[in-house]
Amino acid sequence: MASRDTLLDLFRKSGALLEGHFRLTSGLHSSGYLQCALVLQHPQHAEALGRAIAERVRELRPTVVLSPALGGVVIGQEVGRALGVRAMFAERQDGKLSLRRGFTLEANDRVLVVEDVMTTGGSTRETIEVAKAAGGQVVGAASIVNRSGGALAFDVPYLSLLEIALPTYEPGACPLCAEGRPVVKPGSRVATA
Ligand SMILES: [Zn+2]
Repeated sequence: MASRDTLLDLFRKSGALLEGHFRLTSGLHSSGYLQCALVLQHPQHAEALGRAIAERVRELRPTVVLSPALGGVVIGQEVGRALGVRAMFAERQDGKLSLRRGFTLEANDRVLVVEDVMTTGGSTRETIEVAKAAGGQVVGAASIVNRSGGALAFDVPYLSLLEIALPTYEPGACPLCAEGRPVVKPGSRVATA
């Protein structure tokens, strides 16, 4: 599970990573499309990814995993299982992440924030603030994939299992368009090798 090639292979075989020429919902073009849920729909893969993250964060001694819903819930649950600690989630209400459903943190709780994909780090930062506001101590953050291209900075240790830079382009400045490659919408099942 640890090697980059093994992980990339898993993502490709699950259809979670498509490579080609895509028009994203934002209207931007990209050479890659990532949908972690397609890996995580297989419980054995979710469990293995959770164990892989857990191995690397164990020394932070988390006592609870906190994930932003929905994307972080499945992997957060698996990291919590592998660490033998609680896994809870924050969810958005009126645009703002918060702890609901009676989830609480204590002052001695060591919180690990877990997400599926880190793009700008915005929701992780917001989840860190939720944990602090609830009285917990945040000891680290982790994600399966970091697609930021290396631009992330947090005030706690951060790790990802897989870094994939997936640049996006304005349609008028897209090098793939310039090469005359046909553009497809992700999910239209036209993946190129
Ligand atoms: Zn293009």
